[in-house]
Amino acid sequence: MTIRLFNTMTKKKEAFKPLKSKQVKLFVCGVTVYDYTHLGHARTYSFYDTLVRFLNHQGYKVKYIQNVTDVGHLLDTGEDRILKKAREEKKNPLEIAQLYLNHWMEMMEKMKIDKPDLMPRATEHIKEITKQISDIIKNGYAYIANGSVYFDVSKFKGYGKLSKKIPNELKAGARVGINVDKTDPHDFALWIQAPPEHVLRWESPWSVGYPGWHVEDTAIAVRYFGPQYDVHGGAIELAFPHHEAEIAQAEAATGKKPYVKYWVHTGLLTINKQKMSKSVGNIVMISDMVEKWGPEALRLWIASTNYRKPIDYNENDLEVAKKRMERIGSTLERIKENIGKGGSKRIFSAKLEKLKKEFFKAMEDDFNTPLALSKFFEIITLVNKHIYNGKFSNSDLKLSQDVIKELGEFFQIIPEKKKAQLPKAVLDLIRKREAARKIGNFELADKIRNEIREKYGVVIEDTKDGFRWKSAD
Ligand SMILES: [Zn+2]
Repeated sequence: MTIRLFNTMTKKKEAFKPLKSKQVKLFVCGVTVYDYTHLGHARTYSFYDTLVRFLNHQGYKVKYIQNVTDVGHLLDTGEDRILKKAREEKKNPLEIAQLYLNHWMEMMEKMKIDKPDLMPRATEHIKEITKQISDIIKNGYAYIANGSVYFDVSKFKGYGKLSKKIPNELKAGARVGINVDKTDPHDFALWIQAPPEHVLRWESPWSVGYPGWHVEDTAIAVRYFGPQYDVHGGAIELAFPHHEAEIAQAEAATGKKPYVKYWVHTGLLTINKQKMSKSVGNIVMISDMVEKWGPEALRLWIASTNYRKPIDYNENDLEVAKKRMERIGSTLERIKENIGKGGSKRIFSAKLEKLKKEFFKAMEDDFNTPLALSKFFEIITLVNKHIYNGKFSNSDLKLSQDVIKELGEFFQIIPEKKKAQLPKAVLDLIRKREAARKIGNFELADKIRNEIREKYGVVIEDTKDGFRWKSAD
């Protein structure tokens, strides 16, 4: 069975066929690091995390890039978001970017969202950006006005093809007169001459200035992926004008079409049916939500709605998700208690395998996670029923345990025991082991790891972000 994926460009579910057989190049627009991260981000990036986990599981090799915007993302007032924040907090803009990037990484980890393979920063790719702008000018798609460079939308025939907004409509609805240098209000800045207060500035053939927001993403994507790649993702509000601009820039610069094969967008998030916004004062931060509900319940709640549909945050739905998540935990406990107490003849393994197949079918159908989850919970019900009636074999239970963990992994919904629950003796050993690792004594580190496993039944795993633990079973 092949995976089908909804492509915003064609408005259809299409068979998923990467350009190079099983290799997938995925670019997801990253965050502008100027503020604390909110629940909308949790929704978007949880979905792409599930997508990557699932594709990898199905034998694809995914290379996942998420860029970091640390300059050039302007407010409606024309002010750079990071610079404004730096002024307000009386800090250096790069300090601000680092501070909020660190916060972002911490929140993603708390949400159990895996790190992308690469997180390139705009300020570290000015060379690639100016090169792309030069190519766009050379190919006749941009003009220079007072040291700034603008993309000429009228020169790019396909402008509007993703969001299905045609240039005339664009013109009619546009706000005019904000920038006197632009010949059309929908032309967008590729390079902006820096006013004196703009401290992030670089030399360029046009002026001392800084890049526009849209061009950062395409310069970075083309640098690492080449002129064409498989999937570009982001939240739906980025489709216009941001992604429209990305297509125009990349295709104008490289001459290769299409820039991206599949455009994937996640739906909006509302808070009690209201749009989340600073002016309403209903911004919900990830940090508060993780504290309140835990990552597993949040991710279960997110996956319970189709990724393309709007999702509404309300406490009732989260209560439901939390209870369902706890049910997964108690089922796994019950399985553990009963393994070894059953017979040898398989009783419900075939039924379980069938549900598992249906789960995968749902996932392959444009990541229909609500349907996949309903299959997952049918498995939970099946297992509980059989344990309750005493009708199970040991291999039934072993299979149940494996399948629940395997499927739960895509959404990270299997409840974890908290670190604080580790006994002090284990924590002391972990500290000793970390110290040994730090000085390169890996022999001792391994010895301690084995000791922890044998004496306390705790498995320690090293990751690039430190250690993780789980109970051995
Ligand atoms: Zn982007």
